[in-house]
Amino acid sequence: MSFDQFGLSPEILRAVKAEKYEHPTPIQEKAIPHVIEGKDLLGCAQTGTGKTAAFALPILNRLSAEPPKSGRRNTRCLVLSPTRELASQIAESFTVYGRYTGMRNTVVFGGVSQRPQTDALRKGVDVLVATPGRLLDLIQQRFVLLDKVEVLVLDEADRMLDMGFINDIRRIIELLPKVRQTLMFSATMPYDIRRLADTILRDPVEVAVTPVAATADMIDQFVYYVEKSNKIDLLKELLHGDEIKNALVFSRTKHGADRIERSLERAGIRVEAIHGDRSQNARERALAAFKKGTTRVLVATDIAARGLDINELSHVINYDLPNEPESYVHRIGRTGRAGLTGVAFSFCAIEERPFLQSVERLIKKHLKVADNHAYRSELNPGPPTALEPTKSKLLKNPYVISATDFAASAAADPAMNAAPRRRFDSPGKPSRYGAGPRKETRRPSSSSSSRSR
Ligand code: AMP
Repeated sequence: MSFDQFGLSPEILRAVKAEKYEHPTPIQEKAIPHVIEGKDLLGCAQTGTGKTAAFALPILNRLSAEPPKSGRRNTRCLVLSPTRELASQIAESFTVYGRYTGMRNTVVFGGVSQRPQTDALRKGVDVLVATPGRLLDLIQQRFVLLDKVEVLVLDEADRMLDMGFINDIRRIIELLPKVRQTLMFSATMPYDIRRLADTILRDPVEVAVTPVAATADMIDQFVYYVEKSNKIDLLKELLHGDEIKNALVFSRTKHGADRIERSLERAGIRVEAIHGDRSQNARERALAAFKKGTTRVLVATDIAARGLDINELSHVINYDLPNEPESYVHRIGRTGRAGLTGVAFSFCAIEERPFLQSVERLIKKHLKVADNHAYRSELNPGPPTALEPTKSKLLKNPYVISATDFAASAAADPAMNAAPRRRFDSPGKPSRYGAGPRKETRRPSSSSSSRSR
């Protein structure tokens, strides 16, 4: 299929051509015709699938078909995003795709001076991209009026709910005209998202592309069993060679990210960290330097990295495994974009085994074990993950398991019973697992760099 078949205006097709997009991505193919028709839409797609163009192109098409008459422009499209980084990227995309249409956009988010934002708003914009908190501030101060909004987009709705924005979103929606087109995108479709969709969408068309877990198939994924105290040395060893052109390193905490940054800096590696405690300007500078290649390693927390669009990212390294398996898929989705192959390394200390299990169950495969490094954990990593949930409490929430659930499932699973029993009721104390002999059947030593379990 080609972009010409959608019936988009020549100005928009020109911008698409200038971006060298040859064919629509699957989400664009599925969503654009419905959005052009004016339908509400519930899209299950994550960042990296081309979903921004899937909504921005038809929206720009609609708005530019009826350009503003003389006088001040009204905000006719509102896009809500959970993070500043994603909001900036969406606004940039509107600028790029709308450059020949004469449509104006601006972006507002917290953590920076509101002056440049209010200056832009005073001039009037057609499309406003915003994070919920700052938007409400500006509404209260009467810098923003939403009574002329024709299209609302809620992007990364699952993350907005995770971040506690639900009440802000509802307050904003109350200020919008009842008659409007609403598009909602979410990488996952948990119950809360469905409920929100039911209340704000009218007879929506549902489109889905590559379920979050399947996206992971395109990425070569390895697990390194390494204890916490050795993680930093392993990271340095990996960065020492030239296999890793550039890497986005995920830390679970802000302090952790700072520590990694300091250690790598001391080792002479070009590195910067981004997280919620860094100013917006510092985050943007760090991101720009990483995209340019001035820094080789960007250390980030999940929230700071959400939605980052980095072309040609060679490696994602999970310094810590996330406790939500969906975050793992979001993280590794930063690499392997637009058909490029990507590589993801995950460091797994013994107390993170339950997290690894959740990830492997979600993506329905075992990560390959990388074992030709000097920092291999001496602790037995336990049996391979049973990819299908067993008849145990796990069924309640198959992707989140607690240490006790893990123990229960191990007891119920014959394959697991064959292995020596371990206690998982005190994951914070690795010494209780003992450093018994390695089970060579599960983690054979190998001269190759990695090996599948
Ligand atoms: P998104 O999911 O919107 O963050 O887009 C991810 C990346 O895909 C961005 O770098 C876009 O520029 C790029 N992209 C979007 N649509 C296409 C397309 N049809 N062909 C090639 N690249 C695209």
